[in-house]
Amino acid sequence: MSHDPECIFCKILEGAIPAFKLYEDDDTFAFMDINPLHDGHALVIPKEHHTNIFETPTEVLTTLMATTQRIAKAVQNSIAPDGINILQANGHGAAQSVFHIHFHVLPRKNGDDAKLNWGLRPGDKDHIEQLADKIRAAISD
Ligand code: AMP
Ligand code: ZN
Repeated sequence: MSHDPECIFCKILEGAIPAFKLYEDDDTFAFMDINPLHDGHALVIPKEHHTNIFETPTEVLTTLMATTQRIAKAVQNSIAPDGINILQANGHGAAQSVFHIHFHVLPRKNGDDAKLNWGLRPGDKDHIEQLADKIRAAISD
């Protein structure tokens, strides 16, 4: 399975750095974003390292989207945000900062006026962990 030793998400997959894991299967992994826009902000990645949507094989994108749907449903059911955007960035101009393809499950609040570049501010780890417990408990088949 392709892997980049410099990649922070590959390091999470290896267990070399910690993450608030939500879910994994043979092909995909989901975890909490540590700089959340709002409560329940999660990321879904393939276990294979691919940089962006242009380079990711279609079958990998298919499994990635299936897991993204599963996590989006769990966030909706457990956190009940006003809405959820699914977001995926390709390239610096699109504000991609981690070059291992990922879908953001991005909870929204009415009137939050969020920008596509929302600015990364570290969240409270204890709070993120509690939210992860809630979402994990809401993941269904
Ligand atoms: P993007 O700008 O679309 O590439 O998004 C990368 C996302 O990864 C940002 O929202 C970061 O907050 C998030 N991120 C970076 N490092 C970590 C990490 N170690 N654990 C969880 N999320 C991370
Ligand atoms: Zn990677």
